[in-house]
Amino acid sequence: MIKKMTILYEIHGGLYVNLTNKCPCNCTFCLRQEGDGAHGSDSLWLEHEPSLEEVIEAFEEENLSKYKEVIFCGYGEPTTRLETLIEVCKYIRSKSDIKIRLNTNGLGDLIHGKPVAHLLKGYIDAISISLNAPTAEEYLAVTRPKFGIESFDAMLKFASEAKDYVPKVTLSVVDTIGEEAIEKCRKIAEDIGVSYRVREYV
Ligand code: SF4
Repeated sequence: MIKKMTILYEIHGGLYVNLTNKCPCNCTFCLRQEGDGAHGSDSLWLEHEPSLEEVIEAFEEENLSKYKEVIFCGYGEPTTRLETLIEVCKYIRSKSDIKIRLNTNGLGDLIHGKPVAHLLKGYIDAISISLNAPTAEEYLAVTRPKFGIESFDAMLKFASEAKDYVPKVTLSVVDTIGEEAIEKCRKIAEDIGVSYRVREYV
């Protein structure tokens, strides 16, 4: 495993932010099991979690007008560093009106032991939440979260609440879960009133 301080990296015109390698899940399909980076990026394994100052320093070297979007994603769950994430959003908002997206496993409430969706209001324009499976049992088998079986319902609760604070909320699945599961997941997204996306598994 190669460790580097890749805090920002570009994929398809988006500027991605790598705040942490911590994650309460251990998904069977996690990119981290396949290598050190994503889509040709440098290693996303961090030598240490970047401080707010280090993240801002990395942004200072970028020209945000070059990018279509900033995306919190990386090699870990961004909401494990919620406070820093929000401070980084404040910095971005002070510099640019670029759109800001959060890619998350949706377990922020369990990570922090309290509802967190409202904290994103005004900072995040879009959230993409990995739904992964249509039932709590299947979700547990695929994502293997440390919080256990309650994770699925907590993730859906977060998604539902996020609608009130974030303009666009999307539940997503990968296209390898099978047609029946894809349709069941579509129904879940419809029922809680959020967008739905089937992603190509890479
Ligand atoms: S939630 Fe994301 S970072 Fe965490 S194990 Fe799953 S795929 Fe990997």
